[in-house]
Amino acid sequence: MSQVTPSPQQIAKTLTQQLNDYNYQYYVLDAPTVPDAHYDRLMRDLQALEKQHPELKSAQSPTQRVGGEALKSFAQITHLMPMLSLDNAFDDDEMKDFVRKLQERTGTDDSTFCCEPKLDGLAVSLLYEDGQLIRAATRGDGLVGEDITVNVKTIAAIPLTLRGEKFPARIEIRGEVFMPFAAFDAINAKAVANNEKSFANPRNAAAGSLRQLDSKITASRGLSFYAYSTGVVEGENSTLAPSHYEQLQQLKGWGVPVCPEIKQVENITQMIAYYQDILERRGELPYEIDGVVNKLDDIAGQQKAGFVAKAPRWAIAYKFPAQEEMTTLLDVEYQVGRTGAITPVARLEPVFVGGVTVSNATLHNQDEIERLGVMIGDKVIIRRAGDVIPQIVSAVIAQRPEDAKAISFPLTCPVCDSGVERLEGEAVARCAGGLFCAAQRKEAIKHFASRKAMDIDGLGDKLVEQLVDEKLIQTPADIFSLSQAQLLTLERMGEKKANKLLASIETSKHTSLAKFVFSLGIREAGEATAANLASYFKTIDNIAQASIERLQKVDDVGEIVAKHLYYFFRQEHNQAVVTQLIEAGVHWDEIKEKSDAQLPLKGQTWVITGTLSTMGRSEAKEIIAALGAKVAGSVSAKTTMLVAGEKAGSKLAKAQDLGIDTLDEQGLIDFLKQF
Ligand code: NAD
Repeated sequence: MSQVTPSPQQIAKTLTQQLNDYNYQYYVLDAPTVPDAHYDRLMRDLQALEKQHPELKSAQSPTQRVGGEALKSFAQITHLMPMLSLDNAFDDDEMKDFVRKLQERTGTDDSTFCCEPKLDGLAVSLLYEDGQLIRAATRGDGLVGEDITVNVKTIAAIPLTLRGEKFPARIEIRGEVFMPFAAFDAINAKAVANNEKSFANPRNAAAGSLRQLDSKITASRGLSFYAYSTGVVEGENSTLAPSHYEQLQQLKGWGVPVCPEIKQVENITQMIAYYQDILERRGELPYEIDGVVNKLDDIAGQQKAGFVAKAPRWAIAYKFPAQEEMTTLLDVEYQVGRTGAITPVARLEPVFVGGVTVSNATLHNQDEIERLGVMIGDKVIIRRAGDVIPQIVSAVIAQRPEDAKAISFPLTCPVCDSGVERLEGEAVARCAGGLFCAAQRKEAIKHFASRKAMDIDGLGDKLVEQLVDEKLIQTPADIFSLSQAQLLTLERMGEKKANKLLASIETSKHTSLAKFVFSLGIREAGEATAANLASYFKTIDNIAQASIERLQKVDDVGEIVAKHLYYFFRQEHNQAVVTQLIEAGVHWDEIKEKSDAQLPLKGQTWVITGTLSTMGRSEAKEIIAALGAKVAGSVSAKTTMLVAGEKAGSKLAKAQDLGIDTLDEQGLIDFLKQF
């Protein structure tokens, strides 16, 4: 098959068509389908081609045109002065080139510039007559924009009346309407909660919110505004300051907000330092920016420099490296976290974004996959902002290949093959093989050995890590078959220390059922739940075999804990570890029904609050529960006694209100002496 190279005309035609489509989606629909970096590359390609073949350049070319057309649903406004776009620079050399050319054109070596963050919103023109805002318009195609006066009036940052006195009789103020991150996050969170489509970025959200036919919607969106230039200025007081920076200060004086980051610089070195500084602080700013704008400060110099078709010659946008790029989703793999959470991870065709090459991105969970509607093989838009983990922002569904594959979430753990548990209402799916799963091993064993669990003295977190890393233990049951010889192979482990550890492992074998159940590390089954389960079911087999309904009969066990318990014991691997533990000699005293005489506080409900310095809250709770009382978490009319330690707060106040008896720590100690 012979390959035909497309002619420059054909390439120009294709690029023009693509750019026109992207412009329409971006400016008219506020719904871009490709990242800006992709658009910018195509634009540069077309510019380069037109430079090489000037005959291809027409007035209709996207390289010559600003923005998109004004929507018919708004009244149209012809701008008093065209609202142009900006030329772009992408590196220091392009910046220096720009300054050099500008100086040549103006015939000076003037290097005073006004540097401003390039806010990522949309340009608006505000017309004030005698200090009153009479009209507001979008940029549209630069010549004709949309009348959005009613909507703009809902933006609190925009003054309806200018302050002070010496403002021009007629002044057009231009600036950017943008959506601060706080408002953007809130709107998107709401959209997700309502199962609605969220906005791709704050610019989109700002444009979509401003171009609403119902201004009440605009009012609810938390938009803001910074002015960055003036347009037509006429009538009394129409002579403004001779420098751009000073003009912005004048606007500020009349009550129009101006970005506080704006700075005057005196040379190109300072200009580049400003860029670096803003780039570094980008993540701390409360609004999205995509570069900085450098403007020749001298207004007379600006006039001398003039304009090209779509941009002034005296200003340039120095863009930041792209944070969004397009690539292909090659596959989805699943990672199991230390606590069993299963996270889908996107494997991507490597792409340079946010200053690094990215080949993985998180997909968070199944809900996120569904929300994105993404499939394997899709073109996806990746975002990497600052140090944040790369995310998939959207799938380009229009470019879906025929062989795209649906993503199916695993039903068993990819690490240990145990069941995957996902409770209703929870986004996260988890491996239920907590005791066995290699991904969860370290956390499970650390918890098992901890003081409130099996209390194995000397087996701290560091040693657990070492034992697992050296493959001496894999599950908690392996602890009980450790030998002195094995321990001695570890770094910083002497004979004395090893023997001491072996002795405390031996001692720990005698425990209580409550501690044993707690030590298994079942999700949400804390100490109190474990104790309640032990006293209700009496044996580990009873707990392991109980149905979800039966488990819920136990105090403090709700549906969620019951399900976690149930799934835990349905995993063969977990069961096997429990059996091994018992076979290794872990045992506890049989739990016998206590007689009423042994339960003097039976039928009572106690609450403990504040700090107990001698015994601690959990010990107090254990003692009181052992005497038959129910220990509850909050004070109510049913409370028999409140134990109020140091710094007891609202619970004490409530108990006093309800006339409930209280004991301080000493009072409790004295009270317990009688038993
Ligand atoms: P621009 O965003 O590159 O620059 C001009 C605009 O910058 C002005 O109109 C103004 O709104 C804004 N601005 C922000 N701060 C400013 C300041 N301090 N001073 C002056 N202006 C300031 O140009 P544009 O014509 O609005 O948009 C072109 C860009 O939009 C492209 O480079 C591309 O990144 C993006 N775009 C993307 C798509 C897409 O499909 N993804 C399509 C079209 C355009």
